[in-house]
Amino acid sequence: MKKTFIVIGILLLIIVGIVVFNPQILFAFRATQKMALNLEGEQAAAFYFPENKTSKDTLYMKGVIYGGTLGDIKEALDENPQVTTLRMVEVPGSVDDEVNLLASREIRKRNINTYIPEQGMVASGGTDMFLAGKERAAHATAKLGVHSWAGMDKEALDYPKDHEEHKKYLKYYEEMNIPSEFYWYTLEAAPASNIHWMTPEEITKYKVVTQTTKPNELLTIQQTLASDAFEGRGTGKNQKAQDFIRNYFKEIGLQSFNNSFDIPFTFKERKTGKERKAVNLVGYVKGKTYPDTYLVVGAHYDHLGVVDGVVYNGADDNASGTAAIIMLAKYFKKNTPEHSIIFAAFDAEELGLHGSINFVKSPPVPLDQIKFNVNMDMISRNPKNEIYISGTHQFPQFKPLLQKVAAKSSLKVSFGHDDPSDTTKDYWMDSSDNSAFLHAGIPNISFGEEDHPGYHHHTDDFERIHPTFFKKTFLLIQSSIEAIDKNFPNPVKK
Ligand SMILES: [Zn+2]
Repeated sequence: MKKTFIVIGILLLIIVGIVVFNPQILFAFRATQKMALNLEGEQAAAFYFPENKTSKDTLYMKGVIYGGTLGDIKEALDENPQVTTLRMVEVPGSVDDEVNLLASREIRKRNINTYIPEQGMVASGGTDMFLAGKERAAHATAKLGVHSWAGMDKEALDYPKDHEEHKKYLKYYEEMNIPSEFYWYTLEAAPASNIHWMTPEEITKYKVVTQTTKPNELLTIQQTLASDAFEGRGTGKNQKAQDFIRNYFKEIGLQSFNNSFDIPFTFKERKTGKERKAVNLVGYVKGKTYPDTYLVVGAHYDHLGVVDGVVYNGADDNASGTAAIIMLAKYFKKNTPEHSIIFAAFDAEELGLHGSINFVKSPPVPLDQIKFNVNMDMISRNPKNEIYISGTHQFPQFKPLLQKVAAKSSLKVSFGHDDPSDTTKDYWMDSSDNSAFLHAGIPNISFGEEDHPGYHHHTDDFERIHPTFFKKTFLLIQSSIEAIDKNFPNPVKK
């Protein structure tokens, strides 16, 4: 008996000794991989649904791919056949390449898409698994790392190019429809002990993603205009917003009147009776069929500024409309309209609609060549997904066109707030920049949502807007303008 104990003891000591001097050996045994990972402060890959998510279409993944990953992923997908996307939050690598390639093939076999979210990271074997996604997308801030692999004493490139060791990877990439150059590039990109973060050019070149998710420019513009740095865009103190809009107009390639996008004006402030200075920013795109007839797409860019030391950012009122003007200008510059379209960012709206009043009083083109005005004021925040179009009470000839466009939107598009005799609803036709056009007899419509708790409050911040709603209102407006431009209706005789 004693002798057996000694033998077992010596064997154990040898095993412990091997493990201490060569901990890699632990990874050879699947059952111990999880433990070994924990010892190294790494987490073995886990698949889960976050508690705050009610939809179970997206399966989350975090951790290092190990011997159990094939079984784990099969189990997760068998139990949740509705899963369409694997969201790889942080998958820094794999400790078992054989299992990794099998688990990855399982992902492809089931037509699952892969996605790396904002600030997400995949690397090494994680990148290989990412490539198994049928559709693959990565957020602009996500990181994708690659490097060479190494055997016990050799780096991959020490093996001749036609060596058997390369073949299993080349075969895998071929199955995933990734060009074989990708494999050789990863071996050159960084040694096994290091990592290379792929550049956007490399990601495109090697077809690593099938979909590029650029940050949404409409939202980025709104966020910028509504940031504290813009100090609430109060009239007289909104030069930063002017610079921003002017630069955008220039970059888009809008034409200007009299060689400047700036149309400065003065107005008398109601409260104080003082004369004040303000600036409208105006550019246009020339129409291909009716270049001398103009549609005016307008929104005010000013807001309340800083009140008692608090910045009123006005994200919805009206960084939303301003961002929409810029993106519409960009769109119509690329898709030449039939009529010329003027894009006007009005100042001093909050002090009494002065920008638009001045525009109509001193128009950059003869007023009788302006056929129509579209106004946008507060179009990014509504919990009921409801957007109003006002103006069809006065100009019913536009309603059928707009109804047709609205039918294609998943928003609740309502018409109203434009009938002065309707006592159930506030009358909006004189509360924003379309008013001056209305009083000049120019047909107009206005897009806006009903007031929310942030209205004229310091909580009108970018964090509170509804991004999906905003993207949809923007598309609704874009399609509406396009429909009106292409099929300009005759006035209805009253
Ligand atoms: Zn407003």
